[in-house]
Amino acid sequence: MKTINATEITKVVRQMCIDANTILPDDTYSSICSACKTEQHAVGKNILEKLIVNADIAKEERIPICQDTGYAVFFVEVGQEVYVDGNLTDAINEGVRQGYIDGYLRKSVVSDPLERTNTGDNTPAIIHYDIVAGDSLKITFAPKGFGSENMSKIEMLSPSAGYEGVVDVVMNAIHYAGPNPCPPMVVGVCVGGDFEQAAKLSKKALTLPIGTVPEKPLYQKMQKELMEKINKTGIGPGGLGGETTALWVNIIDHPTHIAGLPVAVNICCHVSRHITKVL
Ligand code: SF4
Repeated sequence: MKTINATEITKVVRQMCIDANTILPDDTYSSICSACKTEQHAVGKNILEKLIVNADIAKEERIPICQDTGYAVFFVEVGQEVYVDGNLTDAINEGVRQGYIDGYLRKSVVSDPLERTNTGDNTPAIIHYDIVAGDSLKITFAPKGFGSENMSKIEMLSPSAGYEGVVDVVMNAIHYAGPNPCPPMVVGVCVGGDFEQAAKLSKKALTLPIGTVPEKPLYQKMQKELMEKINKTGIGPGGLGGETTALWVNIIDHPTHIAGLPVAVNICCHVSRHITKVL
């Protein structure tokens, strides 16, 4: 059994909040750079160049890549042989509180969806836990802006809708989103599960590195088809036209019920932030 002190978790989470919001991950940064080299649309190319400059300045000056420093979303894998000395959820929330205050990151959480009083420290975080084998604690943090989050869609299809039905759900979400999620986007898709599992895994798909290819040939085909279709919409960088509307589409499939075919689409903007630490 490994013991991890709650104060250590808080310290790590605090730094993750600051790093994720000021340093664009390598996969996102590289894919914007690659797209910039191939984009043919003059305005689209210009926007991509500006996104690169923006990310460079943020990293150098340690300032947020975007003013929306996001809802603090965590995927935490807790090894069965880990003992946390203290309360794990409290430790993560305290890390968020410290990180958002010390890093001068925008606090974007309201305590009640209708009364709308800001909690002042970006807590509470949304934390998804998985119990796994082993003696480590794996924490993935993915702050999520709501310009893109608001464009998410979930549909409970009939199984007869099949492959084409899934592609249609994703493309309808993309057309509905248009320029709102600050493209170029990263698109997270979950096919299967139930209502809440599909939504959760579509967000988890956004934490997979850009360039990840699904294991099954069927979803490899779907990924390729969706990339082509999305990049032919002409939405382009910043929604101002071009061939770079999606940087990548990540698809997760999950077993489902014989009577259903859930499809969830979670869209992220070009500030696709995700950072993982293992304790
Ligand atoms: S969608 Fe992304 S780039 Fe646009 S405002 Fe929100 S966090 Fe910033």
